[in-house]
Amino acid sequence: MDWGQRVGTIRQWARGGRRAPHKPLLLLYALGRWQREPDAGLRYSEVEQDLALLLVRYGPPSPTTPVYPFHHLQSDGVWEVRTEHGERSPGPTATALRASGATGRLSPGLRAALAADPPLAGRLARQLLVTRFPPSLHPDIAADTGLAPGWEADAPPGPPGGTAAAAAGRGRRSTELRREVLTAYEYRCAFCGFDGAPAGRPVALEAAHVRWVAFEGTDTPDNALCLCSLHHKLLDLGVMGLDEEGAITVSRAFVARGDSGRQQVLALAGRGGGCTAAGQPAGGARVRAPARGAGLPRPTPHPAAGLTSDTRCPRAGRRVVGAGRPVRDGQAAAVAAEGAGGR
Ligand SMILES: [Zn+2]
Repeated sequence: MDWGQRVGTIRQWARGGRRAPHKPLLLLYALGRWQREPDAGLRYSEVEQDLALLLVRYGPPSPTTPVYPFHHLQSDGVWEVRTEHGERSPGPTATALRASGATGRLSPGLRAALAADPPLAGRLARQLLVTRFPPSLHPDIAADTGLAPGWEADAPPGPPGGTAAAAAGRGRRSTELRREVLTAYEYRCAFCGFDGAPAGRPVALEAAHVRWVAFEGTDTPDNALCLCSLHHKLLDLGVMGLDEEGAITVSRAFVARGDSGRQQVLALAGRGGGCTAAGQPAGGARVRAPARGAGLPRPTPHPAAGLTSDTRCPRAGRRVVGAGRPVRDGQAAAVAAEGAGGR
């Protein structure tokens, strides 16, 4: 098994289409650190805050901890943990990891492979991003995990094992999908209505997958919305979404201090957002709140959001399902399950 295959088989918790990307985030962070300091270990107490921030930004909605990936990634053959006395990991608790001086490193075999072929780090990082996260988040995650520039070009596009012809096919399909979706929505963002088109050329409008292609979402119009760049990214982050009736939802976690943030995000909650220009719900199907890949939050309606209606969409203006409910909390069990599954 080569390292691409091994990285491709890293297990992560999944249930009902939602996944927790704890292990991929830790491995990306470790690869970024290896690129800067190949011989450095990652002492848990020193990287805990960095890892926690990554989980806040790209992990599931409820509070979580880097303890689980730090300990359980060992079972995937790419990572090892030793205490300051050279003993094995004391287990998945923060207290024990801190007190023992637990330090993680890429596994000796992987470090040897990277030393012999340094660009392998970029290729593995690219593979993790492509197979575990939506494209709109790749640059942000690469920056936040400290990956060296060049990760974009160091690997063929698409999951490992794909052929050049398959990659070209995906590229063509992506172009066709964008054209079909933007046309269906008459070149307007389904969330905010943005339709800027200097010299008649639409700008900053994208076909956004409701369910990530990396997680069994189809590359078809019935799994896509036309969104502006801002709302595409917020959808992929799980900050915004659609409820069962096609109304826009905004996560409770969203914070905006100024009027602009409130108007562009909070004020949209409750509006119909899943309809094409012809009033068809999101390509005819899949207006359910997205079962996000990688365990990103399913948006919970923001309590500060007002409900409005949009007559262009027959589904609009209905009540927001679950409005005002507290954010669901299944995180501890979810992460524990991931850890157990990774053994
Ligand atoms: Zn928009």
